[in-house]
Order: sequence, then structure tokens, then C-alpha cells
Amino acid sequence: MPLTRANFGIGTLVKPAPFAHHAPANVEEAVELLGALAAEDGRILAGGQSLVPTMAFRLAKPAHLIDINGIAALEKLAVEDGSLAIGACVRHAAFHRPAVAGPLGPLLASVVRHIAHYPIRLRGTFCGSLAHADPASEWCLVAATLGAEMTAMSTRGARTIAAADFFAGIMTTDLAEDELLTAARLPLLRDDTRFGFCEFSRRAGDYALAMTLATLRMQNGVIVDPRVGVGGAEAFVRRIRQAEAALAGRRPEAAALRAAADAAADAIEPLEDIQADAAYRRDLVRAMTRRALEQACA
Ligand SMILES: Cc1cc2nc3c(=O)[nH]c(=O)nc-3n(C[C@H](O)[C@H](O)[C@H](O)COP(=O)(O)OP(=O)(O)OC[C@H]3O[C@@H](n4cnc5c(N)ncnc54)[C@H](O)[C@@H]3O)c2cc1C
Repeated sequence: MPLTRANFGIGTLVKPAPFAHHAPANVEEAVELLGALAAEDGRILAGGQSLVPTMAFRLAKPAHLIDINGIAALEKLAVEDGSLAIGACVRHAAFHRPAVAGPLGPLLASVVRHIAHYPIRLRGTFCGSLAHADPASEWCLVAATLGAEMTAMSTRGARTIAAADFFAGIMTTDLAEDELLTAARLPLLRDDTRFGFCEFSRRAGDYALAMTLATLRMQNGVIVDPRVGVGGAEAFVRRIRQAEAALAGRRPEAAALRAAADAAADAIEPLEDIQADAAYRRDLVRAMTRRALEQACA
């Protein structure tokens, strides 16, 4: 018997559970739809690179998808008031080449190549990564370390959330279920900012078991404005103030970098899973932090 749409079961044998697809034309429509449908398990669809696989396994069964991919205003990637504004539909791939002048452009370009694989980077979005809040998300680490600000919109209006208040736990953020993350803003970096990024994952493209982003400046031979962020090792990404304190005002010598790496390793509450136990993750954080700092000070 020849295969036809009817006897092959197309329409009934698709992988995800049934859902309604909504394609709002603008942000206001998207926010209205989310406000009306969030309580009925309505979810935003951005790049789909995290949501769609979980739907295919039926781990997520949203009844409504509010697809923001047709909203041109969300594709904005621009410098505004000393920040790089990244709209909700800006893809990871937008950062393959420096997207902005100064050290922030190369920083983002050096981090992005660690995110998944090329086809995923063509679809996945910066803001989708923040909303998804995987503890091993590179963009979450960048946002937390640099002190990003997120803009969330709902039918109640818009609000700004600082990165330090945004990430709340494993795949948990401060966003309410009816809030659309319309943009993230990364502060531009001073021209003399140096950075280092180091990540350990089992294979290229895998999620990090541990990673560190460090930024700092040098003044009169000593380290100023150090920022050290750690991801992949704890429930959510965050700055490690103890490591920063170990660097501030010190010469960029091996002993200072080792002290900061030890401080980071001591400060974390490591995740334990099938990939790595707590002791191993702590050791990885020590190594990633030392190497990121060596890059920044080279
Ligand atoms: C094989 C594989 C490997 C991967 N490796 C990595 C990796 O190494 N590092 C990494 O960081 N990521 C990795 N990812 C995930 C990828 O980066 C995703 O693109 C990202 O996590 C989510 O972005 P998205 O645009 O695809 O979001 P979607 O999948 O569309 O959405 C994810 C979640 O966020 C919500 N959401 C999305 N956008 C918004 C918004 N604007 N406002 C409110 N809620 C929103 C959705 O409702 C959903 O709950 C990997 C994915 C795959 C499939």
C-alpha cells in the first residue's frame, strides 16, 4: 500500500503533544497573548533550541506557543546609552564576529564559539538563553559577570531587572510566567579592559562542567576593577566576590592569580551529577579561574 498523509498518520504521530501556534506581529500583541495564555501553559518560542527538544521528548507540553520570530523590533542589536542592547530575537551567531567596538566585541566572540554547535547558534537567541537559565549557559555567565540589565514586559508594564537579581536557581529566573524578556543590555567595556574566558566540557559543543569569565584593568602595575564569574558548577551563574577581593590591588603575579582561583573554588557550592562530583567540579573551577585570569593578565 503506498504511503499517504492519511495512512502514515501525519498530524497524529508528530513528536510533541498538540499545541496552538500564535504568531504576534509586534511586542504589544506578544505581551497581550502571553498575559492571556500564560496561565494555560502558554510559552514564548524564540530560537526553539532548548524548548523544542524538550517538547519532542514530551518533557514540556505547552498548550500554546507564542512565536516571537516575526517581530522585527526584537532583532535590534545596537549601542544605546553606554550599553549594547540585545533584542529578544538576536541569535547567538550575531556574535561570531565582534558586534561592537572595544573589548566587549572580542569578549563575546571568544565566548560564543563555546555555545553548542554552528546550526544551533544560527537559531538560538541570546535572550532565550537568559530566560532558559541553564546553569551552564555561557550567555548567563556573561550577563552575570558584566552586570547586564534585563527588560521584562507584561500587560502590567515594563521593568528592569539587574543580573544579580535575575538568576535564581537551576533554570529559574526572576521573570514572571507572563513576562516577555524583550532585551538584555550589556555595559560597554572601557578600552583598557582585559578579559579571559576558560571552559571545561567533555566534548566540543557540550555544556560546561565549569567555566570562568574574568575581566580586569591594570593601573600602576596593579589589578583594578576585577570581575570573576563562575558558571556550570553551581545552580546558577554568579560573580564570586571572594575571588575578586583576592585580586584587587595585587600585582598580576602567579601567587595572586592562584589565591583568587583558590578563593573561587572555596566559595562555590558545587552541583553533583552523573558528569562530575562536587570535589571534581571544585577543582575544575580552580583550574578554569586560574587559566581565565592568566589570559586576562597576559
Ligand atoms: C545539542 C545542544 C547543545 C547546546 N549546548 C549549549 C551550550 O553549550 N551552551 C548554551 O548556553 N546553550 C546550549 N544549548 C541551548 C541553546 O543555546 C539555546 O539556544 C538556548 O538555551 C535557548 O535559546 P532559544 O532562543 O533557542 O530559546 P527557546 O528554546 O525558544 O526557549 C527556551 C525557554 O526560554 C523561554 N524564552 C525564550 N525566549 C524568551 C523571552 N524572550 N522571554 C521570555 N521567555 C523566553 C521559552 O519559553 C522557553 O521556556 C544547546 C542546545 C542544544 C540543542
